[in-house]
Amino acid sequence: VTDWQGKNVTVAGLGVSGIPAAKVLHARGAHVTVVNDGDDARARAQAAELEALGITVRLGDGATLPEGTELIVTAPGWKPDKPLFTAAREAGVPVWGDVELAWRLRGPDAAPWLAVTGTNGKTTTVQMLASILKAAGLRTAAVGNIGVSLLDAVLGEEQYDVLAVELSSYQLHWAPSLRAHSAAVLNLAPDHLDWHGSMEAYAADKGRIYEGNRVACVYNVADKATEDLVRAADVEEGCRAVGFTLGTPGPSQLGVVEGILVDRAFVENRQKNAQELAEVADVNPPAPHNVANALAAAALARAYGVPAKAVRDGLRAFTPDAHRIAHVADLDGVAYVDDSKATNTHAAEASLAAYESIVWIAGGLAKGAVFEELVAKSAERLRAVVLIGADRGLIREALARHAPEVPVVDLDRTDTGAMLAAVQEARRLAQPGDTVLLAPACASMDMFVNYNQRGDVFAEAVRELGAGA
Ligand code: ADP
Repeated sequence: VTDWQGKNVTVAGLGVSGIPAAKVLHARGAHVTVVNDGDDARARAQAAELEALGITVRLGDGATLPEGTELIVTAPGWKPDKPLFTAAREAGVPVWGDVELAWRLRGPDAAPWLAVTGTNGKTTTVQMLASILKAAGLRTAAVGNIGVSLLDAVLGEEQYDVLAVELSSYQLHWAPSLRAHSAAVLNLAPDHLDWHGSMEAYAADKGRIYEGNRVACVYNVADKATEDLVRAADVEEGCRAVGFTLGTPGPSQLGVVEGILVDRAFVENRQKNAQELAEVADVNPPAPHNVANALAAAALARAYGVPAKAVRDGLRAFTPDAHRIAHVADLDGVAYVDDSKATNTHAAEASLAAYESIVWIAGGLAKGAVFEELVAKSAERLRAVVLIGADRGLIREALARHAPEVPVVDLDRTDTGAMLAAVQEARRLAQPGDTVLLAPACASMDMFVNYNQRGDVFAEAVRELGAGA
């Protein structure tokens, strides 16, 4: 346990993690200085609030290490190559993120953490996991890079038996001493490489989630990189590697047999046969990637010891967050689906794989992505494509190379109203039985505030079309 009295702590970044961190450390007697790059009206208001408590705030200078700093607590998004961290390394000052701080401040009887990371599916899996744990009668919450912050979960009034924790690669980078009860890496595809510096560094940060696991390291059988991370991790004695697969499970795996989710990992010592957990139809929506998420959640819940029945009850009680393969409407026998949260190619590939014949609405900010593989793998499912957004040309070029026969409408627009035009075009191109799928494979900020607004505008456009039909 750290004695915070009089300790000089620098908090890097005002914001969702920085402000509560500064307050908590100040309350424990630390001398807190907050440094922040920005110096706008919002930052000034936030600074005034902290200064009123006696916390020092330096606006417009996030680069200089304040003299006497003994520890930095950083916002997870701050890049490791910032001058502040170079200075910290040279001075031998440790750097913790918000997750590390919560981990260190948790009490002696704190709830264990079941942790989830991966390029895609984190939020969904953590929510499924919380739903399963609740169905088993446990006091729990989905926390972390989602809804409730870890600091609130760890220090708040609410008592928990166990926490379902979503962790981003950034958070893991800054969480050197975190030790989960059990953890899962759902999948690994290139994302945020500009931040981590390389695919190897990104994978290594994700792999940190397995370090010191006590009971189970859950990996994706179809994604060998996740299994490699388990192998590389230093875990507690007796901790097991548990795989999940959409196929028939081998020993120490969960999988699917004739539409039933089954578990061989936690029954094999007692019986040869797999134990039934739930049906694929219990997963909402039952798209393959989402069944994989359900299996990962089930693996973690089973590692914690919940009965098989709670898996089924928890999955049935689960409803996905908005804009994740949300069915908006059926018009003239065509389904309209909002997967605005598919903000990268790996996510869009999963969502395109869930439908047979698709009019695909795509485009936005590519963030350096390459679309070749996505387009090549999805080509045979595409009835047509409607392109919007700043980087649509990259997708158009990939389509020309890998799916030259698929009709493409390039709207050549980046205004918000382009979505209505895209939906109109999609309706014209779709045939009964098709799905019009918004799965942009890109970020939304060229045309919208965020992916939520993009999905809302899509749904509105579909409703407008329906009303005018
Ligand atoms: P995250 O929290 O990792 O961003 P979400 O659960 O919010 O993940 O899902 C984001 C998007 O990723 C979904 O809308 C869907 O398109 C896609 N997705 C979800 N689960 C998976 C998965 N297991 N594999 C690939 N893509 C997925």
